[in-house]
Parts: sequence; structure tokens; C-alpha cells
Amino acid sequence: MRIDLHAHSNASDGTDTPAELVAAAVAAGLDVVALTDHDTVLGHAEAEAAVRALPAGRRLTLVPGAELSCHLDGISLHLLAYLFDPAEPAFAQERELVRNDRFRRGRAVVERCRELGAPISWEQVERIAGTGSVGRPHIASALVEAGVVASVSDAFTADWLANGGRADVRKHETDPAEAVRLVRAAGGVPVFAHPGAVKRGRTVSDQVIADLAAAGLAALEVDHTDHDEQTRARLRGLAAELGLLTTGSSDYHGSRKTVRLGEHTTDPAVYEALLAQATGAVPVTG
Ligand code: AMP
Ligand code: ZN
Ligand code: FE
Ligand code: FE
Repeated sequence: MRIDLHAHSNASDGTDTPAELVAAAVAAGLDVVALTDHDTVLGHAEAEAAVRALPAGRRLTLVPGAELSCHLDGISLHLLAYLFDPAEPAFAQERELVRNDRFRRGRAVVERCRELGAPISWEQVERIAGTGSVGRPHIASALVEAGVVASVSDAFTADWLANGGRADVRKHETDPAEAVRLVRAAGGVPVFAHPGAVKRGRTVSDQVIADLAAAGLAALEVDHTDHDEQTRARLRGLAAELGLLTTGSSDYHGSRKTVRLGEHTTDPAVYEALLAQATGAVPVTG
């Protein structure tokens, strides 16, 4: 069983449509893939239809999910949520609040980039983002198109879009303990995404992770491209101490990042344990 529990479509800042992501997951030889767009479930219906329409002999299980933008004491962090009820109103409202604020913030970031001399426009970013939840990676693609930086990752520096960078503007982000409770109340399973991704900015302390465990966190995403071996070992130890499961996932973003689907995977026993905790939705198998 090859299980990848973190992938983005163009419903947020990935480049594959949800149907293309399903095809890519089959091509990568995955048995299970989770669709975890930033602060939105808008890609679920298309991905589920694509899984149901797979030809005989091509099997894939889709785990509907999302990745929530959270914020604590000046630190941004991401919470993966699996198999929640998308119609549960409190959590749906919070996703909508974050998603809507992405538009205000996106315009403000573009304005800052222009003040700093980058010839990009909001119309260009809208074209790149399409119907997707607008984020910094779309603006990074605009900066690449304009020849300001050479690559999306080169846009995430102090000069431009990195946390605290010259063109960084905050968006509304949820308190992580509150997010854990919202996910659980919607029948979902919350997992802390890339908790030790230091290249993205400051990360939270072990005490914060312990507090989230107490609030209902299920697991830490340990095997992730932004974690070195030492970080993985430390997080595995912490998870054992706190009674948390550990997952591994690619955080695939299509051509916007270099990581490949299935580059990191989750143990089947861990996947089963996560499934057993979910009451809001069920995986879709084609
Ligand atoms: P946003 O949700 O708009 O604040 O943008 C955050 C997204 O930008 C993350 O989910 C990553 O996909 C991407 N990102 C953040 N830091 C980096 C980085 N250092 N290099 C490349 N992509 C990054
Ligand atoms: Zn992303
Ligand atoms: Fe993330
Ligand atoms: Fe992600």
C-alpha cells in the first residue's frame, strides 16, 4: 500500500486540476491519496467524480481533506484535516473566513510588490489562481512571469514573500487549538503539517505541540521534504512521548514545486488508525 496524505490541486495553489491530480496519483502507483487544499474543499467534488470514473483495474482511494492556515504568537502553522463533514457550519464558516481574507491580502501583497518595483498586477494573479484559493505561490508565479525572480522558491525570501519579508502581508489565520477542536467537532482528524519546516519561518515549541495533543491532535506529519533527518528523529520522539501518530506525505503542488507525488508515504497501520477516528466523511474508492 502506498499512501500519500497531503496533495494540492488548483483549488488552491497546486497546478493540477483535481481530476489531473487523481490521474497523477494513479500514474505514481499510489493506492491512497488525500486532497488537502489550503482552506477549501472546492476540489473535492471533481476529484471524487474522477476516482469513481477510473477505468476497471485502476483503483485509487481518495481521502477528502484540507490544510488550514493557523497562527500562534507570530508563527504561521498548517493543520491538515481529514474526513470531516464539509457541511458542518462552524468549521465551514472558519474556512470561508480564511479563504475570503486571502483575496484582501493577495491584493495588498501585489500592491507591495508594485511599490517595490515588481511589474505584476492583480489581474495577472487572478488569471494564475483561476478559481483557486489565492496564495503567495500564485503571486510567486506572477513574479517569475515578470522576470523578477527565477523560480517560485526564489520568491520566498526576505526581499519578497517570505514570512516577515518586504512584501509579506498577514492574512486571517485560525488559532491552532481552536482549529483542532473545530476539525474534531466536524468529525474530522487533525494532523499537524510539517511542524519542523524551519525554512518557511519560525516553528512552534514542543510545549505548543503538547497543548495541541491535549486539544485533540491525532498525528504529526514527520516525513516531509522540508524536514531533515535530525528533525524527523526529534519529531518521532516527541510524537511517541505525546501518544501521537506520525505520517509521511509529499505535499505535492504539481509543477509549482519540485516534490513528486508519493515521495513520502504513510504507514498503512497509521492510515487505518486515522480512518478509525473519522466520523465526518468516508474515503471514496474507485
Ligand atoms: P499562503 O498560504 O498564501 O500564506 O502561502 C503559503 C504557501 O506558500 C505554503 O503552503 C507553501 O506552499 C508556500 N511556501 C511557503 N514558504 C515557502 C518557501 N520557503 N518556498 C517555497 N514555497 C513556500
Ligand atoms: Zn501550498
Ligand atoms: Fe503547508
Ligand atoms: Fe500543503
